[in-house]
Amino acid sequence: MNGIPAIPPPVNEPIFSYAPGSPERAELQAELARQADQVVDIPLIIGGEEVRTGNTIDVVMPHDHGHVIATAHMAGPDEVRRAIDAANAAHREWSMMRWEDRVAVFLKVASLLAGPRRAKLNAATMLGQSKNAFQAEIDSACEIIDFFRFGAHFAQEIYGKQPISEPGEWNRAEYRALEGFVYAVSPFNFTAIGANLPGTPAMMGNVSVWKPSLAALLSNYYVMELFDEAGLPPGVINFVPGDPVEVTKVVMEDSSFAGIHFTGSTTVFRSFWKTIGDNIAKYRSYPRIVGETGGKDFIAVHPSADVTAVKTAIVRGAFEYQGQKCSAASRAYIPESMWGDLKGPLIEETASLSMGDVFDFSNFVNAVIDRKAFDKIKGYIEDAKASDDAEVIVGGECDDSVGYFVTPTIIVAHRPDYVTMCDEIFGPVITLYIYPDAEWEETLELVDTTSEYALTGAIFAKDRRVIRHATNALYQSAGNFYINDKPTGAVVGQQPFGGARGSGTNDKAGSMFNLLRWVSARSIKENFVSPTDYTYPFLEKD
Ligand code: NAD
Repeated sequence: MNGIPAIPPPVNEPIFSYAPGSPERAELQAELARQADQVVDIPLIIGGEEVRTGNTIDVVMPHDHGHVIATAHMAGPDEVRRAIDAANAAHREWSMMRWEDRVAVFLKVASLLAGPRRAKLNAATMLGQSKNAFQAEIDSACEIIDFFRFGAHFAQEIYGKQPISEPGEWNRAEYRALEGFVYAVSPFNFTAIGANLPGTPAMMGNVSVWKPSLAALLSNYYVMELFDEAGLPPGVINFVPGDPVEVTKVVMEDSSFAGIHFTGSTTVFRSFWKTIGDNIAKYRSYPRIVGETGGKDFIAVHPSADVTAVKTAIVRGAFEYQGQKCSAASRAYIPESMWGDLKGPLIEETASLSMGDVFDFSNFVNAVIDRKAFDKIKGYIEDAKASDDAEVIVGGECDDSVGYFVTPTIIVAHRPDYVTMCDEIFGPVITLYIYPDAEWEETLELVDTTSEYALTGAIFAKDRRVIRHATNALYQSAGNFYINDKPTGAVVGQQPFGGARGSGTNDKAGSMFNLLRWVSARSIKENFVSPTDYTYPFLEKD
């Protein structure tokens, strides 16, 4: 009690290589085989109790959709109400607990994950969300570890921000948790986001109802297990998979709803905002609304750029994790003078990307997440094949016979406003627009105005004046802006992540700015010698 603790200075978790012969590769392969051979029964977790409703869905591998790896119980309205009650019941003790005890739970999650639980969570992410070993490692191991180690450090910085005081007085700031519970709604594509959305508010003393994506249940359930293993008290985070609309309806009717921490599509976030607006008079406080949403992330290439670097950025930026990253490059602007040199090698490299299941570590690309995603992506590709305004120059094959496979696809659009230059497709598809070199200025304008999003973007150029000019011209076009690098792969502590416009509230996941959204400060003034006379000198007679 009597000490001012210091959080160990955070450093980013090193990424394991999984190279042939490495111990981590052998451990992960054994764990993949073990998990693929079982069917896990996933309960709800409410107030620390496992709850089984009997209303279950199958959890399958996207790369082998006939293979069930878990069955998960779905919450109905009664379970959601119980989860809210459990969160509210845990609120006082948790929010009043010393902050170093709270963050210790999450530092322990990080250490478990860095060591004994790493292979388990990575394997679950690979099987359930169809990620290769490297994509799982940077997500379900490294990013979660970073979120919590850096988060603990940022929490300490926030609590240390204290006001000045006059002599004889002492001013203090208390960073209270929100009064009520936080609703955490996570997407399928990053296990780390599942951990962060309820976890970061909890570090700051909040309690939550966590509705994971139905397409990421195995890994998300294991995250919940980790919270428990690290000593998180019952009720602080309640795990309630269920019909998204039904769960949300119950949550957003509740007077103690204090905030939403969301990552997912723009349409869903807008619907949340509207419902919150409609219900605003029901709530005890104005809910905090934090959402990171869609993107139509760009690569804008100047004629002075290096052609090989551009090729690599397109391939990695567009096709890693099948393009299912909010930051994935999905439109690129290529100067005519470069196209001749880029086209052949780009097609060749894209066509050579290996695709298949996650057990075979030589596969760069795996399956897209589910039938809905597969049908949507296929629809855009079929339309492009049939359109006079576009041409599919490589890829475009879709096969759902065993898993939801779509080959990495490049479309060349003949119009800069062709639909695949504007819509978020969320699959392994990038559209290129070849512009006349003389129209760089107009192209920057196109980059800025073509989509409703402003999440990530990259420019490629050698000429420094061009870099400065484009950086200014695209000032509002991306919350994460890259110069001569692909627009994906943000790292906690290095490139705080988030976008504006239709892409979200830009509260920068993995930074102190995000943590600040989950506290409500109380200013305390203490006067050591209280005044005893109400008069002031100016009242005295001349
Ligand atoms: P999604 O919007 O379909 O689902 C996200 C979450 O919302 C899930 O938990 C889902 O069950 C829930 N949901 C869906 N429809 C709902 C409804 N009508 N009412 C209540 N809840 C609902 O998104 P997804 O497919 O899981 O993820 C992909 C999307 O997420 C893309 O748009 C991507 O750009 C975005 N994303 C953004 C970021 C970012 O940081 N900006 C990061 C990852 C993903």
